[in-house]
Amino acid sequence: MFQEGIKRTNSNELYEESKNYFPGGVNSPVRAFKSVGGTPLFIKKGDGPYIWDEDGNKFIDFCCSWGPLILGHNDTNVFNSIVETLQNGASFGAPTRKENELASFILERIPFIDKLRFVSSGTEAVMSAIRLARGYTGKNKIVKFDGCYHGHVDALLVNAGSGLVTFGTSSSAGVPDSFAKETLVLPLNDIHALRSCFENYSHDISCVIIEPIPANNGLLLQDKSFLTELRALCSEFKILLIFDEVISGFRVAFGGAAELYGITPDIVTYGKIIGGGLPVGAYGAKKEIMQFVSPDGPVYQAGTLSGNPVAMAAGLAQLKRCAEDNFYQELESKTRSFTSKINSFCLENDVPLELISIGSIFWFSFNGKKRITVSNQINPDMSSFNKMHHFLLNNGIYLGPSGYEVGFVSDKHSELILNTAAEKIIAGIRVFSEHK
Ligand SMILES: *Cc1c(COP(=O)(O)O)cnc(C)c1O
Repeated sequence: MFQEGIKRTNSNELYEESKNYFPGGVNSPVRAFKSVGGTPLFIKKGDGPYIWDEDGNKFIDFCCSWGPLILGHNDTNVFNSIVETLQNGASFGAPTRKENELASFILERIPFIDKLRFVSSGTEAVMSAIRLARGYTGKNKIVKFDGCYHGHVDALLVNAGSGLVTFGTSSSAGVPDSFAKETLVLPLNDIHALRSCFENYSHDISCVIIEPIPANNGLLLQDKSFLTELRALCSEFKILLIFDEVISGFRVAFGGAAELYGITPDIVTYGKIIGGGLPVGAYGAKKEIMQFVSPDGPVYQAGTLSGNPVAMAAGLAQLKRCAEDNFYQELESKTRSFTSKINSFCLENDVPLELISIGSIFWFSFNGKKRITVSNQINPDMSSFNKMHHFLLNNGIYLGPSGYEVGFVSDKHSELILNTAAEKIIAGIRVFSEHK
């Protein structure tokens, strides 16, 4: 019944070697395939919606570098901008025209931020936004939500402790409990928990940070009313609201979830798509807040490679395409017809799987047919996803190697390619529902 596995000789050899160089053989943990089991594929090249591994296997890629590649691999305009810019040198550590160009392109289209600052990763954007919120308000504590990921910032590698309104406990060795205590962790989609937290601690809460579209731990779409009330409560209690749009920014709409939902945060963070596949992050806010950032203000933040011209050029080329008419509508409708084919099959055959999606983000939810909004509702048994992952690898489809991760559709994933992918996924579901 199961097809022969694909050839992995070269990937396996490279992995054996890489284990001598890097912890777990990788430079970011999820890449090690620990979650789905087996060993990672080493990728050699990508083009459009496809990637090829070192053994020459070809895949339809739904990982898309974990989100940045909304135009797929090697988009012509992005590629040409990188090459053209690189001809003048890779980095100067002095201002360049490219930074102005990317900033003005973004600021013209996202009305709720007056100024921004470029950094080199989503983690750095979040870390800086939190420091800015603390510097601006003069308060120490921050609120985060259980199930949201904000990069590997110390203050945010924190889990809920026990009790209703909870001080966090660190979720990584190396984060002192004294740091974690400055972070309050609340359940998503629960306005009562938020209100009671504010009533008790607002005197020392600088900000609330949320992924308005939580997409790093499943896809936990929030009630819009929750986000609206969150905004209102933050204003009422004079607490800054940070939207971490590293994954949703330029993904569900040019202006991210803020634009999609019509809800305005005080500070926003971007990453992933903003760099066109090169390392860029950014944080932005109104002038009154951004004037606290050095050298204008007292909140220190810097970066040797910040605003790197090659990365700025890649980001600008990508965002220009994103800003074209109907770009997001087309992506969303393609994604929706892809997921609904699979979902119809699951419904007809009583399979407890549903592809949840928003815009061009989708998630394999093995949680029956109910929409879930809170992280502890996720079925912790990932065995179905893991089997599916291996089946799909053997059949030419690459998903991020963890059932907690979402997939991404790029503008290069044509309807034809998406149909092929849907058929293969349905074939996989058939195999596994027969073998239960
Ligand atoms: C990916 C991500 C980050 C971290 O960005 P890096 O570039 O990996 O440091 C932070 N927040 C969210 C919402 C993300 O999706």
